[in-house]
Amino acid sequence: MIREHGGHIKEVAYCPHKPKAGCECRKPNAGMLLDLASRYDIDLSGSVMVGDHERDIEAGKKAGCKTVFIGNEETGADKQAPSLQAAVPLILELLE
Ligand SMILES: [Zn+2]
Repeated sequence: MIREHGGHIKEVAYCPHKPKAGCECRKPNAGMLLDLASRYDIDLSGSVMVGDHERDIEAGKKAGCKTVFIGNEETGADKQAPSLQAAVPLILELLE
């Protein structure tokens, strides 16, 4: 579906370490985002980190991204929406 609409997924990334391993790639650390941005020449200040946990938002902020939280809990994100679908216009707004 993404391809049909002109999008492209270059990579799916995850942290392979145990939660208390102290690695830089596990959120709320920003290592994974910084690594991907470096490899694909992505401007993080022009990117939006979307997540359903506050650790996603913290990682996004540490990486210099704008942030959108999916859910109803209190958040430090730039924008908040109850669903990913509802977040789409907010994400686009942040990218203007
Ligand atoms: Zn890790």
